Amino acid sequence: MSSTPINLAALSMTELQALTARWGWSRYRAAQLWEWLYRGRAVSFESMTNLSVTMRTELAQRACVRWPSVAERRMSADGTRKLLIELEDGRRIESVLIPDERRLTLCLSTQVGCTLDCGFCLTGRMGLSRNLKAYEIVGQWVAAQQELKQHPDDLPARITNLVFMGMGEPLANLPQLTDALARLTDPHGIAFPPRRITVSTAGLAPQITELGHVTPSVNLAVSLNATDDETRARIMPLAARYSITDIMAACRAYPLGPRRFITFEYVLLDGVNDSDDHARRLAALLRGVRAKVNLIPWNPFPGTPFRRPPDVRIARFQQLLLDRKVPTYVRKSKGQEIFAACGQLHQNTGQPDGRSDDRSPHPSHHPPPHLPDDRPPEPLHAGLS
Ligand code: SAH
Repeated sequence: MSSTPINLAALSMTELQALTARWGWSRYRAAQLWEWLYRGRAVSFESMTNLSVTMRTELAQRACVRWPSVAERRMSADGTRKLLIELEDGRRIESVLIPDERRLTLCLSTQVGCTLDCGFCLTGRMGLSRNLKAYEIVGQWVAAQQELKQHPDDLPARITNLVFMGMGEPLANLPQLTDALARLTDPHGIAFPPRRITVSTAGLAPQITELGHVTPSVNLAVSLNATDDETRARIMPLAARYSITDIMAACRAYPLGPRRFITFEYVLLDGVNDSDDHARRLAALLRGVRAKVNLIPWNPFPGTPFRRPPDVRIARFQQLLLDRKVPTYVRKSKGQEIFAACGQLHQNTGQPDGRSDDRSPHPSHHPPPHLPDDRPPEPLHAGLS
């Protein structure tokens, strides 16, 4: 037996079953451990009172439970809180807690950095360090829960919505994302309602289809950001691989439950994609799709040619869509003093000794996206039933 303790948090259910079988434990013990880890959120083995003392002693010798932890936090006056989360290899990622009336949305990362290199997004400048593992994705939820317990301040006690809009492209890490979604929604564990989870993609068409097959009940958001391939390619290199036609075909085929919508995100860039024609073309593209649009006025950072459009332009763009019966929302800036908005998540490439970078001249934050289901989820069970 290896002397290095095995991190149970990092194991899938199948791996946990294999491990306990190797120890000669009955099969149901894996399920008990799973419930402790995810439903009871246990970090010590002493608390696992339905295991014998011998088993708990054995566990303490062989295993550990280590989740990613909050290394630093940035608070905004409006309650938005950016968490810098440290992974086992010392790299850091960011998750953002966004309160909005009764809602508390957690914005999750799926990669350390990102490969897509969208011109308007600061995370793209980091390049990709690596994909997150499923437990590091779930671990952001665990770390945020811990944060709420230890530093509640004015935040609501429970996370009501999850959005995969942090660092990285979720669908470029689909196997780990799928595993993480399974753990987050598992009724024997965290039991987070899938209808309150939104996965946002830059438009990897084949993976949109795959997501629809493997995890059909989560919400889909697509960062369209342009209405023709040429403009899109100017701001999103990924557009060379997947055309708007490919993306819209995948969206039209996406299995949507009753009263569900696909959210189309559209970063508004002054003089690039914000004309009346663009708005009309966007409405035309979405015809026949159960869609809503989130307009995101560009959140600035230095060293780009982009500008945020004037407010009147934003309002006009929204109105043109509303006139064409497309439900359209504008994300408002929030959290001026922290650097946590869409496309602003970046810190010194996540080196173990890296300091976070909050030198943005005009940081801002968006409120959570408008999700169709407004009810808070059922409370989580604190212990075992
Ligand atoms: N890769 C995924 C999720 C991360 S980006 C995706 O592309 O959807 C989350 C959202 O922030 C996307 O809609 C993206 O277009 C938007 N975004 C990125 N940089 C931004 C910026 N500087 N200002 C406003 N929105 C931005």
